[in-house]
Amino acid sequence: MPTQIDIPFDKRHTCWFCNEPSNQFFDYYRMTHTPHPSLTIPACKECHMLAKKNLLTSIWDCRDAVKDNLMHLYRKDLAIGINWTEEELEQSEFDCMIFGGFKKSAWMMYQIAQSRMNARGWPLSLEGILLDGEIAGDVSQYQTGFEFDGIVFTSLTKAISHYSQTLSLDSIFLQQLVTLLGKAQFGHAVKIARLNIGITPGNQRRILDELIEDMDQGAAQ
Ligand SMILES: [Zn+2]
Repeated sequence: MPTQIDIPFDKRHTCWFCNEPSNQFFDYYRMTHTPHPSLTIPACKECHMLAKKNLLTSIWDCRDAVKDNLMHLYRKDLAIGINWTEEELEQSEFDCMIFGGFKKSAWMMYQIAQSRMNARGWPLSLEGILLDGEIAGDVSQYQTGFEFDGIVFTSLTKAISHYSQTLSLDSIFLQQLVTLLGKAQFGHAVKIARLNIGITPGNQRRILDELIEDMDQGAAQ
């Protein structure tokens, strides 16, 4: 079982990803290239579900992917804050009861979505010892930005979606390859995906299984 991360007293029932109330725990199992031990992290139901789909190569990359996913899911709520200010909404001429109610709830939805996006959790530590990549009293200093082939991406998922679009690769397959091989082998993952464009999910699974087998053999030697 992974070790539960230290949880500050005031965060006992808080999702590490988005700061909303949490009632679940997310287990992150480390791989050979993962830069930290396996971890159990409190999460809300939605972030838990998103995190399981975006393990990637570290808990911090996983968090960035959860944020990207939340941003996409709540893009309509987030757009309210781009298109309106709170005063404009209050002063807008539509003052009938129904629209008044809409304005209030739209603004509230925007604020909730925005604070979930901006939440940075708390520095990760196990039994009082901060993980490498975390600096005491500050948010994570781990480099989640990612540079490949001279392009700097704000997150690993952004790099994956960029290469998938540019090279017409299956983004889920590429993400699985990167998760398996690690960040340092991003180029190798892209190469495998390029060599196997258009193959069936069954054949994708076979390639992933073969890679796992190779890695197990490498580890056993
Ligand atoms: Zn959450």
